[in-house]
Amino acid sequence: MIIQATDFDLRSRNTFGLPCIAAQWVEYSSRDDIPAVAAMLDGDMPRLLLGGGSNILFTTPVFPGTVVHSNILTIDAEVLDGGRVRVTAGSGITMDRLVERTCTAGLWGMENLSLIPGEVGASAVQNVGAYGCEAADLIETVEAFDTVAHRFVTFSAEECCFAYRHSFFKTPEARGRYIIAAVSFILSSKPAPRLDYGNLSAAFAAGRDITPMAVREVVTETRNSKLPDPSVAGSAGSYFTNPQVQPAVFEAVKAKAVAMFGPDVKVPHFIQPDGRVKIPAAWLIDRSGLKGATEGGAGLWPTQPLVIANLSGDCTAADVIALENRVVATVESTFGVHLVPEVEKAPLLS
Ligand SMILES: Cc1cc2nc3c(=O)[nH]c(=O)nc-3n(C[C@H](O)[C@H](O)[C@H](O)COP(=O)(O)OP(=O)(O)OC[C@H]3O[C@@H](n4cnc5c(N)ncnc54)[C@H](O)[C@@H]3O)c2cc1C
Repeated sequence: MIIQATDFDLRSRNTFGLPCIAAQWVEYSSRDDIPAVAAMLDGDMPRLLLGGGSNILFTTPVFPGTVVHSNILTIDAEVLDGGRVRVTAGSGITMDRLVERTCTAGLWGMENLSLIPGEVGASAVQNVGAYGCEAADLIETVEAFDTVAHRFVTFSAEECCFAYRHSFFKTPEARGRYIIAAVSFILSSKPAPRLDYGNLSAAFAAGRDITPMAVREVVTETRNSKLPDPSVAGSAGSYFTNPQVQPAVFEAVKAKAVAMFGPDVKVPHFIQPDGRVKIPAAWLIDRSGLKGATEGGAGLWPTQPLVIANLSGDCTAADVIALENRVVATVESTFGVHLVPEVEKAPLLS
């Protein structure tokens, strides 16, 4: 079934809670609907393939084009050899619902991704990740409709070109072109916990039974204690990606940190397989003196400075962008590192 509407209110469809009206709204609820949806998209009109709106900042009061949303809510499971299970989920089901279902079924793989907002389609676009696990570790294929060639295409994980919070679907040539119908994940019925991140190993040190559901509970508890509850303050989670810099840049950051905070300061970092060094953006923001920074109704979340939140409940996109610009400029002048937003602006600003 396809649902169409004009002047559709998107306020409850973005987790920042910003007001925005979509000139056109189209929602599909099965794979077979997608070719007809694609035929409705005018090549010259702006389009946005929207999931749960948890990584989107609406920059204008009206989205002057068509917003397309998936309501495909199917979940299918197929037992393979060696304890592997292929779980294929429709693009519209919320990721956390899928994680809950797989954990309840005793399947390993998704538990560390508990409570990440958004839908399954976007989990592949964004390559969502948390607690040392990424969607890319689990995705086997992504099925999407190519709105240029007018046919379904199945992308292997390799063809998705996953990287940190990135995939082929975010590249300029692919953005908005492929409407995702379903994502297949390979999970395991054999125990495969990944507890080497954050407080997970400590939580299970005292002999507590390690099950997918138990890991999910710890992850959920920890996330709830750090991130804003969407019913209290709107946000899009981490506003910036963690920068990955060349070793020489990291040495310069360390030298600046020592000059500012003394010889005992430790700059948290993770060496990447390609030799670059990932530095937590939250640390850079905090140590640049931005704790508690606000612009209008937008502010950095007190327990997680990587999050820009709608503190007043009625902040504007301009407030958020002003704070983004201030954070980028301050971190750059303090540490010489350029932060890049993870959040996507719609429509894009020129
Ligand atoms: C409180 C909070 C915490 C968060 N924590 C995390 C975290 O721990 N880790 C993490 O990685 N992210 C996190 N996020 C960010 C966000 O949840 C993810 O980026 C998520 O994948 C976005 O999903 P969505 O369905 O809301 O997509 P949207 O924000 O609606 O869209 C994101 C992108 O996906 C595309 N897209 C969506 N659906 C489709 C489709 N069917 N076909 C083609 N393209 C599509 C959109 O065009 C857009 O480019 C957090 C966000 C919030 C608000």
